[in-house]
Amino acid sequence: MDYEIIIKDGRIIDGTGNPWYSGEIGIKDGKIVEISPKIKSDAKKVIDARGLIICPGFIDIHSHTDYILPGSRGQECTLYQGVTTAVVGMCGEGMAPIPEGREEDFLKLISKIDPNLSQFEFPYHTFAEYLNYNEKKRNSANLVFFVGYGNLQWAAGQGGENRPANPEQIQKMKGYLREAMEAGAFGMSTGLIYAPQVFAKTDEIIELAKVVAEYNGLYFSHIRGEGATVLKAVGEVIEIVEKSGCVGGQIAHHKISGKPYWGTSKETLSLIEEANERGISITCDQYPYNRGMAGLMTALPPWVREGKNEDILNRIRKPENQERIRTEVKEGIKGWENWIRDESFHNFFISTVTHDKWKDIISKNITEITKIKGFSDDFDTFFNLLIDNELNVMTTIQSMGEEDIQRIMTSRYQMVGTDGSGVPASFSAGAFHPRFFGTYPRILGKYVRKEKVLTLEQAIRKMTSFPAQRLGLQDRGLIREGNWADIVIFDPEKVIDKATYEQPYQLPEGIPYVFVNGVIVVESGKKNRKSPGRVIRRPK
Ligand SMILES: [Zn+2]
Repeated sequence: MDYEIIIKDGRIIDGTGNPWYSGEIGIKDGKIVEISPKIKSDAKKVIDARGLIICPGFIDIHSHTDYILPGSRGQECTLYQGVTTAVVGMCGEGMAPIPEGREEDFLKLISKIDPNLSQFEFPYHTFAEYLNYNEKKRNSANLVFFVGYGNLQWAAGQGGENRPANPEQIQKMKGYLREAMEAGAFGMSTGLIYAPQVFAKTDEIIELAKVVAEYNGLYFSHIRGEGATVLKAVGEVIEIVEKSGCVGGQIAHHKISGKPYWGTSKETLSLIEEANERGISITCDQYPYNRGMAGLMTALPPWVREGKNEDILNRIRKPENQERIRTEVKEGIKGWENWIRDESFHNFFISTVTHDKWKDIISKNITEITKIKGFSDDFDTFFNLLIDNELNVMTTIQSMGEEDIQRIMTSRYQMVGTDGSGVPASFSAGAFHPRFFGTYPRILGKYVRKEKVLTLEQAIRKMTSFPAQRLGLQDRGLIREGNWADIVIFDPEKVIDKATYEQPYQLPEGIPYVFVNGVIVVESGKKNRKSPGRVIRRPK
């Protein structure tokens, strides 16, 4: 036998953006070893791809699958979409480093994300140990790691106070960052709406990003504002990349949030275009939905969110503070993105709660909940939700306009990312965002086939070669001889997402085969238990 697998008779879309061509692919030792119109050699397994598209595996440039990796090999719902590589450690919040003796403290931070993690015993401390741990564990798909700014702050002793890092903390943060970059991190990420990252000033981030630049690393950011302050926030990414000398910057899940600001994507995309013309490489990613997802507490003014959870809860419980928050939402605070005023409570849909007495209102919006529960007004519902569930309330927020979504989607600087995580297909807690299960097939089915917003070739470029180029991966993201055989085979007439806001845990249709490093992980639309994923380290 010459090859392990031959894929016959398909239409190849190679990831460059070029039109399809017909061809066959021979796979051996994890790699694509032959591409030709008709392969003459034999193989142990032959897959007939007649009527189907063969393209590179999708690189999810913005994933939070690291939050669920400790408990599982993860990536199930994203594998079904064709994601063969996930970029994790996003929004400034990853899973390492964890200095020795501080495991319990770290668990308190992340069990907010997944209560199941509270039992986890961390078998690593440094970033290098973290990467080695993931390599040994074997995941289903490949992983690319960034180090989170929030992790650096936390490791250096920032406890959530509203003050800049002191010189000693900056030195410590730099040390942890260097260690992560040495270990193979691709760069540093920030999430500048989350405390304590929200308290970091631009100059402080530039200081750190200079270390990233020494390693030819990248700066990825969930920017400081996506509505009223979005232009300033895009400007900040450009400034950080320019002043630090990072090889490039990425605006995460780019969107225009809040009806009063719809249309501003014209200007944000111009800023990106101008930066590129000046030689500063700025790109963005996006998920194709009109709702975002966040912790409900993120809608509180920043002063309420200072310190530990207990401090925050005590503040919310005080009637005089509730009065103050009401007034501030009505009147605004300079520089603060006022989500409640911009979106109104009826656009906040509850995804998850922890307290039993709230379980009946999942996927309802706050205005509906006020009626159901008989609260005096929506603010009252809002405060009670946060207090009863000890701040652990996730929400999807209907905040985006379709025109902005499509304008960003068709920008040549846009690539696709889920901003989700690969939860198991059997997942059923609450009502998470459908992007976890539907992002890639939604683009291919809704935006390519049905609405013709993109051609198939353009869409696939944004899912494959473009993110590979952003990361500097030379051997993935394209159907090329010698490249790793990360491959998706899908039916262009059938591919579609099934996940909705009401029923978010529905697998997509029309994606019969997914290969990771030459190994079949989804066959005839069914995931197997193989875990050929690798930890990809930043090329030196
Ligand atoms: Zn984010």
